[in-house]
Amino acid sequence: MIHLYNTLTRQKEEFISIHEGKVGIYSCGPTVYWFAHIGNMRSFLFADILRRTLELNGYEVKMVMNITDVGHLTGDLDDGEDKMLVAMRREGKTAEEIALFYTQAFMKDLAQLNIKPANIYPKATDHIPEQIQMVRQLEKNGFTYKTSDGIYFDTSKLSQYGRLSGQKSEEKKAGARVEMGEKRNTTDFALWKFSPQNSSRDMEWDSPWGVGFPGWHLECSAMSMKYLDVPFDIHTGGVDHIAVHHENEIAQTQADEGVLEANVWMHSEFLTVNDGKMSKSLGNLYTVEDLQDKGFDPLVYRYFVLGAHYRSKLNFTFEGLEAAKNALYKLRETVREWNQPEDGSSELEEAFIKALNDDLNTPQALAIVWELVNAPLPSSIKAHSLLWMDKVLGLRLEEFIAQPVQIPLEIQELVNEREEARIQKDWAKSDVLRKEIEQRGYFIEDTQQGTKVKKN
Ligand code: AMP
Ligand code: ZN
Repeated sequence: MIHLYNTLTRQKEEFISIHEGKVGIYSCGPTVYWFAHIGNMRSFLFADILRRTLELNGYEVKMVMNITDVGHLTGDLDDGEDKMLVAMRREGKTAEEIALFYTQAFMKDLAQLNIKPANIYPKATDHIPEQIQMVRQLEKNGFTYKTSDGIYFDTSKLSQYGRLSGQKSEEKKAGARVEMGEKRNTTDFALWKFSPQNSSRDMEWDSPWGVGFPGWHLECSAMSMKYLDVPFDIHTGGVDHIAVHHENEIAQTQADEGVLEANVWMHSEFLTVNDGKMSKSLGNLYTVEDLQDKGFDPLVYRYFVLGAHYRSKLNFTFEGLEAAKNALYKLRETVREWNQPEDGSSELEEAFIKALNDDLNTPQALAIVWELVNAPLPSSIKAHSLLWMDKVLGLRLEEFIAQPVQIPLEIQELVNEREEARIQKDWAKSDVLRKEIEQRGYFIEDTQQGTKVKKN
């Protein structure tokens, strides 16, 4: 039995798929106007762990992740500028060039973190007709109105509006400091925005209401319906999506199709840096590549993320990352000495899947991994169990299990030379040689039994 926390019902529920043996997941993907940072990647790692856990339980998963390349504004309330246009100005490129460049960078990050690719990555700009069709239907069903800058969704027409965040339109209104403009309710949102009058926009399309572009929330309702059918099983995103983006997706699909878009809504908590927000201006925003430049294997970051439950805030520090590195390297070093996996399983497999099936308890799953590593069992059995566990952990342990380090001759020669320097007490030379060895991917440890050469 799998239990997952559903934001919609505010409780852990037994997961029951709509179609036997199959699960449809829609994950809100990146807005491709900039590099994804490691906070963004935490939310995609969470979706990957969810997907892999379901697969370990025998489900066939169809995963859809959208690529937002239009309509995501800098403000959350239909105000501000399109993030893609900001990027175009910044880089002097076309929208297509920006989208292509950052989509490719994103795909590279996914691969580096060993996140399994989604089955489909639909782009918002490839689905303008589907989005227009949805607005037409919403208009027909009586949920829209027109203002001078666009077509809006009237949230007061949908009695269930606010069910995800538990906040009613009226409550939001009371606490709101925002300018309503021509909106009828503060929670109303744009479905279609008009291009500015007397000038053209860089990304704009013709529509029955005038030239313009779709609101950000629309793409996810239109594309999830196209690729998964509604209702589908699970919708994921970051906690910042709950109050506006997902609330509005639910409203659109409900008003259009008369059904709940997805049965289970799951949200991952934020990654903070020094307990605060990550931002470029604070200089504390890192990408996967930044971590690599500082000498961290991306899988160290994966291990770091696994160490916290997805519904807890996770504070990023380099000390924390260093601790994850030590743990992962220790694991690699240990399993290198194991024998090849042989059929057979340990009881710990059951404990492992039980932890994951309890709302993806990855910290506990990692603790069970270490229990297995230290268990008094033949290493071939441990190897077999660990490979099975790694189907979810995704730490690429198959590259390390039963693969003792072979020290190439040229490295051994450098090590010997360093030994010689140490005997001569030539510490400077010894240091240079140590660095040289490290640059070639090996490192040395001086123990009481002598110098050991290792590789990670
Ligand atoms: P965006 O590219 O801005 O649309 O965001 C992509 C994903 O990253 C969304 O699921 C966000 O909820 C998530 N996200 C943004 N900032 C953070 C953060 N600091 N920690 C975790 N997830 C985040
Ligand atoms: Zn979305």
